[in-house]
Amino acid sequence: MEKKCVALISGGLDSALAVKLMLDQGIAVQGLYLSLSWGCCDKQKAVAVAQRLGIPLMVLSVGDAYLDVIRKPKYGYGSGMNPCVDCRIYMFRLAKCYMEERGAGFVVTGEVLGQRPMSQKQRPLDIIEVESELEGLLLRPLSAQFLEPTLPELLGVVDRARLLGLSGRSRHDQFALAREWNISDYSTPAGGCQLTDEHFAEKAKDLFAHEERPTTKDMELLTLGRHVRLSPKTKVILGRNELENLLLEGHAQEGYTCLRPRFSGPSALVVGIWNEAMRDLAASLILQRTKEEKLPEDALEFFINGKTWAVSRDTLTPTTQEAVSI
Ligand code: SF4
Repeated sequence: MEKKCVALISGGLDSALAVKLMLDQGIAVQGLYLSLSWGCCDKQKAVAVAQRLGIPLMVLSVGDAYLDVIRKPKYGYGSGMNPCVDCRIYMFRLAKCYMEERGAGFVVTGEVLGQRPMSQKQRPLDIIEVESELEGLLLRPLSAQFLEPTLPELLGVVDRARLLGLSGRSRHDQFALAREWNISDYSTPAGGCQLTDEHFAEKAKDLFAHEERPTTKDMELLTLGRHVRLSPKTKVILGRNELENLLLEGHAQEGYTCLRPRFSGPSALVVGIWNEAMRDLAASLILQRTKEEKLPEDALEFFINGKTWAVSRDTLTPTTQEAVSI
């Protein structure tokens, strides 16, 4: 077996310590950062950690196929809409492919036994190893003394005696090691995955309930604006500030229609089926969120995907009872 591994880097402390343990044994490390474009671990921190440790880092984005993991996780959800066990299986399978492509012998992670209730107890750790088809090739150096020896340990590629026996939720030992080994600039554990966020989870549930084949772009949009469902097939996203207005306008491509008022009000991105009724409801929502003194006295004008549409205020639906805030 090659003295070379692929290490999953999150930007957090644990994966940095796992890499350091490998480097100290003379094992070449190729870092791998897997990105969820709607927000999870901190990519900049991952890059900084890799630079500090002096290892190369490959950054890969998960594709639309990952959304099936969120839609129907075999091992269920955590506190939000986070399918942690299935998510890790998916990511570790990618790591296995990358390991083979790079000619590395095994995969290393910063997982700690008992640190996370859903995915880091003994049983889920075993499930993840088997289902990612990394049996014997998944080394968790921080908790290795509590786990069965892996193939690189059995073959003497890795000296098991120099691996650690950490467990549990306290991170006291990790912080002490970070000081001793001069590792800093890592992300905090609270940096967190959007899928664990209660409000984001509500929006994700709505998306999966109404959209048969959501895309990563739909997931990215969940991080922007105020979401209002107009019908089973249409929702509108309203900017909450000028930056969000501009970002929403940037998403006006096929399947997404942007209403930008020519007065000072929020932009609205209409996602899904677009027709006159949806246009009028979206315009009404813009009106509701615009200060009275900012509204023009004559016709209201909007840019809709670059074309101008003018409408009298009286013809817009005064209330939007069909609309439901998500
Ligand atoms: S917290 Fe998010 S990124 Fe991390 S394992 Fe769970 S679902 Fe995946």
